[in-house]
Amino acid sequence: MPYVLGAKSRAELVGVHPDFVRFVELTLKYSTQDFGVHDGLRSEAEQREYVRTGVSQTMNGKHLKQSDGWGHAGDLVPFINGKLRWEWPPIYVIAAAAKRAAAEMNLRVKWGGCWQELSQIKGDTPAAMEAAVNAYGAARRKAGKKAFTDGPHFELVR
Ligand SMILES: [Zn+2]
Repeated sequence: MPYVLGAKSRAELVGVHPDFVRFVELTLKYSTQDFGVHDGLRSEAEQREYVRTGVSQTMNGKHLKQSDGWGHAGDLVPFINGKLRWEWPPIYVIAAAAKRAAAEMNLRVKWGGCWQELSQIKGDTPAAMEAAVNAYGAARRKAGKKAFTDGPHFELVR
């Protein structure tokens, strides 16, 4: 049985670019892991609070309304036993489905797990997604930088 987006997820996607909403729907269709949309469009005040508490790194986030009037991002969080859970193994499953969805739509989407466009990741299995996250972390460490991974985060590249 394919999963369906719940009312809360739908509400989060209000104000988000229609291409991204279609991408989320297609990702859910292909995903063997259920998920909820935790954050779609954010207000400036919400984003400021996220930056203050360290949840988000930037004030120039794609969750904010962009110049075209839409939000360009969403956080797809695994939904397990009635709860949203920030856990990597199910996130890899969602990311693999997201890669397939973006490819089918010919849509450029960047993934917060490794901050790469999905099309640049080799392979489209959960294991391939995990490898991309690990490679990103290793490259950051080698450069003496902190790795800021955000596995549920996806954003349009425009
Ligand atoms: Zn996000």
